[in-house]
Amino acid sequence: MTTIDFPDHLACVIYTQGCPLRCGYCQNTELIPLVPGLSVDARWTWTDVVEFLRARQGLLEAVVISGGEPLIQPYLPRMVKQVKAMGFKVGLHTAGISAAALSRVIDDLDWVGLDIKAPEEDYARVTGRRNLWPQVEQCLQLLLQGGGAFECRTTVDWHYHTVPKLRSLAQYLSQQGVTHYAVQQNHGTGCLDPKLCQPLLQPVDIIAQLQHQLDSMFTCFTWRT
Ligand code: SF4
Repeated sequence: MTTIDFPDHLACVIYTQGCPLRCGYCQNTELIPLVPGLSVDARWTWTDVVEFLRARQGLLEAVVISGGEPLIQPYLPRMVKQVKAMGFKVGLHTAGISAAALSRVIDDLDWVGLDIKAPEEDYARVTGRRNLWPQVEQCLQLLLQGGGAFECRTTVDWHYHTVPKLRSLAQYLSQQGVTHYAVQQNHGTGCLDPKLCQPLLQPVDIIAQLQHQLDSMFTCFTWRT
């Protein structure tokens, strides 16, 4: 249950198994393999999920499908339609790995949180995967053209990001027409890359200035600590 994963709605989050990315700061490492490890004790079938949701109709307002990376799920369009048919709003958390997959569900989504992990030139370094940017950019354009509610978000780790690059990434998003942007700081616990478990910090005044600059670029800007 969550009140922060779908803006202004009481929601639950479904975490789907499997992600093709390898972000060094990933704290959901048990969700990366396509097949869950033996240690994962929260495995539910889709039937279990539907039963859970049926019992909460009228109590929950929204369901957020997260991951892992939900766009790799071949049955995602059917999942989304089924959840909507039960009367819930549906949100999606995604890293935008496939514009084709997003286009198959976008019309049924009520809200999307799209990860923009870094500027184009740093994408492979941050995500551990090459040639991802064109898909992310296409997903962003789909969301902009679709006119539905969405937020772009960037997880910041100062091993990867710099203040000037984060500022220019925000400028790019603002120029594209993004109105809702969130920056969330990596806390350095349980990271896929152990060296990121010792967070680098920036001077407080530099961060305050950056927050002020980013705040002026968007209708809604959030700095999540
Ligand atoms: S996109 Fe990155 S942070 Fe998210 S689950 Fe995949 S590897 Fe982890």
